[in-house]
Amino acid sequence: MSSVLDGRKIADKVLAEIKEEVAALPRPPGLAVVLIGRDPASRLYVKNKQKAAEQVGISCYVVRFPENVSIKRVKQEIAALNKASAIDGIILQLPFPSLSFPDAVPRPDPLCFLRLIDPAKDIDGLHPLNLGRLCSLKEAAPISISSDPNLPNLLVSPTAQAVMKLIRETGIDLAGKKAVVVSRSNLVGKPAALLLLLQDATVTVCHSKTLDLVRETSQADILVAAAGVPGLITKKHIKKGAIVIDVGINRVDDRLVGDVRFNEVKQKAGWITPVPGGVGPLTVAYLLGNVVRAFKLSRVAM
Ligand code: NAP
Repeated sequence: MSSVLDGRKIADKVLAEIKEEVAALPRPPGLAVVLIGRDPASRLYVKNKQKAAEQVGISCYVVRFPENVSIKRVKQEIAALNKASAIDGIILQLPFPSLSFPDAVPRPDPLCFLRLIDPAKDIDGLHPLNLGRLCSLKEAAPISISSDPNLPNLLVSPTAQAVMKLIRETGIDLAGKKAVVVSRSNLVGKPAALLLLLQDATVTVCHSKTLDLVRETSQADILVAAAGVPGLITKKHIKKGAIVIDVGINRVDDRLVGDVRFNEVKQKAGWITPVPGGVGPLTVAYLLGNVVRAFKLSRVAM
């Protein structure tokens, strides 16, 4: 039977640290969220971020656009937010609704907008410069909130930071351990794999074309599941005693479920994260941590 890693409890501690850091700053850091359309899930995510930001003293501005907004208007807004001195972090809430950008054919890839965000305000860590900087790091360094100007000048995916925090909570030394990440997305899979590598784990990255997922995952001391496929990971995918981090958030019959079949995997794993209440709350906390970090890095030049 495994220990359940309580993401909410750990997130509360991280948020308390962020609140203290914010209180010591000369002005409240500013977060801008660009939200297109009225998708209920996106609106709920934005509301949660706004609420958490207010709790720690970060000013949050939501820029709302109708579903049929033009590409030109969104690009103008990103340019204005890049210049705005009160804004330290910018998020584009994804996915975009299907009707947006009628003035663009073919329909633009989200990356075409993400590249326009100033890398120094890219708190999702999705700009190619931030991903590239993470790729070129040679040794692990604390990369979240801190005022130390000697820290690497990059912003890293909050979800990948949340995954690492949950793994650290187990107290297991990662050096030489086998870690398997089920995802190669820029948002989760690649940054999580790179952070695990920096901790000297031996990392395998799986994806939808992986031929034998069970063979790969069942050897993992640490398994990070982020495919977005409900119930993909079953007992047979797990090595006994493994750390299992479930990043997936999937809506099934109006309920949120992860990628891992919690009840059966719990019997075999050593540690496991629940959904909801695992990676999700910590992702929000590290997103806000990135706003503070962006504020501080802007004063030491990126
Ligand atoms: P994404 O861009 O669609 O990436 C999914 C990845 O999983 C891809 O690399 C895909 O492979 C792989 N995959 C899909 N089906 C698979 C299968 N059957 N077997 C093995 N690999 C498979 O999604 P994302 O944006 O990274 O999000 C992934 C999940 O994490 C979603 O459920 C999302 O809601 C959740 N999420 C949660 C948080 C949080 O805070 N907890 C934050 C972000 C995302 P290919 O590359 O071959 O397509």
